[in-house]
Amino acid sequence: TAQTADEYAARNAELTQQAATDALTGLYNRRHLLDVLEQEAQRYRRSGRPFAVIIGDIDNFKTINDRYGHPCGDAVLIAVAAVLRAAVRTPDLVARWGGEEFLVFLPETTLDEACGVARRIQAQLAATPVHHGGTALEVRMTLGIAPMRPDKTIDTLLRQADEALYRGKHAGRNRIEVVTAAAA
Ligand code: GH3
Ligand code: MG
Ligand code: MG
Repeated sequence: TAQTADEYAARNAELTQQAATDALTGLYNRRHLLDVLEQEAQRYRRSGRPFAVIIGDIDNFKTINDRYGHPCGDAVLIAVAAVLRAAVRTPDLVARWGGEEFLVFLPETTLDEACGVARRIQAQLAATPVHHGGTALEVRMTLGIAPMRPDKTIDTLLRQADEALYRGKHAGRNRIEVVTAAAA
């Protein structure tokens, strides 16, 4: 019957959605974002329209878990996911990239514009203490940014964003770092 076909389609859509999503935060998962990035790299080679990625990693997250417990850490992850979603525009995509790492994909976005998004993320995090069990936690994040360029693979792009992130960690955290001009 038509209803059965509808139910089947709905169930299929649900499974597709689950396969692309991180269960804790509801953000896209790493696998889905990697698929998107590979498609966008091909589109980029045809259109040349800019895009950029931001990799963000919560600062001293292990301390939050150790001090307040794993459920509190999970609450922080959920809160950070909400801040990220609120800080980006509709066409942008946010993924949980690893444990306490997030990736933001910014289509049609220059490096300068990506820096603006990163500043907005930090400002909104600073304005959003996470309440858990009577404590208000100040959560901070270090962000690394890299723009797509014609001769880059997605692997290279991600490695550059990661290198920028780690420069920010070494420089004291709660920072935004951009891929170096030589590597850009
Ligand atoms: P840094 O500022 O250098 O990023 O330090 P950090 O403490 O944030 O980084 P580190 O890599 O030492 O610790 C990350 C921690 O994240 C360790 C791991 O147990 C925790 N973690 C990973 N996934 C989850 C999760 O789903 N929930 C919770 N509560 N913790 C998680
Ligand atoms: Mg990390
Ligand atoms: Mg961390």
